[in-house]
Amino acid sequence: MSALVLDGKKLAEAVRAEVRAGVESFVRRHGRPPGLDVVLVGDDPASAIYTRSKEKASIEVGIRGKLHTLPANASEQSVVALVRALNADPAIDGILVQLPLPKSIDPLRVLDLVDPRKDVDGFHPVNAGLLSLGRPGALAPCTPLGCMRLLALAGADPAGASAVVVGRSNIVGKPMAQLLLAANATVTLAHSRTRDLAAVCRRADVLVAAIGRPHTIRGDWIKPGAVVLDVGMNRLDVGGGKTKLVGDVAFDEAKDVAGAITPVPGGVGPMTIAMLLANTLEAARRRAGEGA
Ligand code: NDP
Repeated sequence: MSALVLDGKKLAEAVRAEVRAGVESFVRRHGRPPGLDVVLVGDDPASAIYTRSKEKASIEVGIRGKLHTLPANASEQSVVALVRALNADPAIDGILVQLPLPKSIDPLRVLDLVDPRKDVDGFHPVNAGLLSLGRPGALAPCTPLGCMRLLALAGADPAGASAVVVGRSNIVGKPMAQLLLAANATVTLAHSRTRDLAAVCRRADVLVAAIGRPHTIRGDWIKPGAVVLDVGMNRLDVGGGKTKLVGDVAFDEAKDVAGAITPVPGGVGPMTIAMLLANTLEAARRRAGEGA
């Protein structure tokens, strides 16, 4: 039996449409659109593409998106001053500092400075703390939030299910585990030191791979009928100077065993920006005194 392939592109479009409607209603109530400001330091080509697409996606749903570009040799002080100014501006609801920052700048100093209420990436220790305490009001990281929406699309109820997250980074693995726990799954958080990872994965009703290594999860590691969410984005050399984007899961093997699975590309990836827009609207509503 072949798995249901979860179409992240289509789901992301639906989320964007929801956000667009939410933004229109926010504008009617408050007379201004939510604002998302993105900070890019340096000339990393991938970061330039990501930040431009975030700005464009914001504008498309009616969010006032603005990109601030600083040169690669910008001082830490100038980045700090910019973040402070964005924190103080009442028309700005979301601040995103694109990573990686140049080596001369301490990323933690900059990220910890972002007002937690405007931290739409959900990376600030206050938001990570609220999420892990299971308290309301956290802005959660966008990629795990997108995974939760894909899980709902698969029709999977995480309550009581065995969920295995492979990868324990602060931006994907750990918050993913917290969101699944909050949804009452029984969660295992696996990593590079986990013994017999294949056996751990075989117990999973919900398996999330956030490793960053191509095709690590094989078809025979998957429980028949499991929902498999592949966060990995790896460039694989396919010869002739060409590369191909692949996930952490061996898709061709896994699709014959899983109940539902995300492809790479077109699965988790498109959901990340969509959830950034949803977080910006949520931050705007909370700052306006609505919601959590
Ligand atoms: P990190 O490198 O920060 O973390 C990788 C994690 O995987 C670590 O916890 C590491 O364990 C674990 N790991 C590494 N090798 C193995 C292994 N052989 N077996 C088990 N666990 C292993 O990566 P990120 O979390 O930032 O990203 C993970 C992947 O997701 C990347 O491919 C990245 O590009 C992608 N990504 C995709 C996004 C999207 O929008 N689709 C967004 C963000 C990331 P340990 O802690 O022990 O070192």
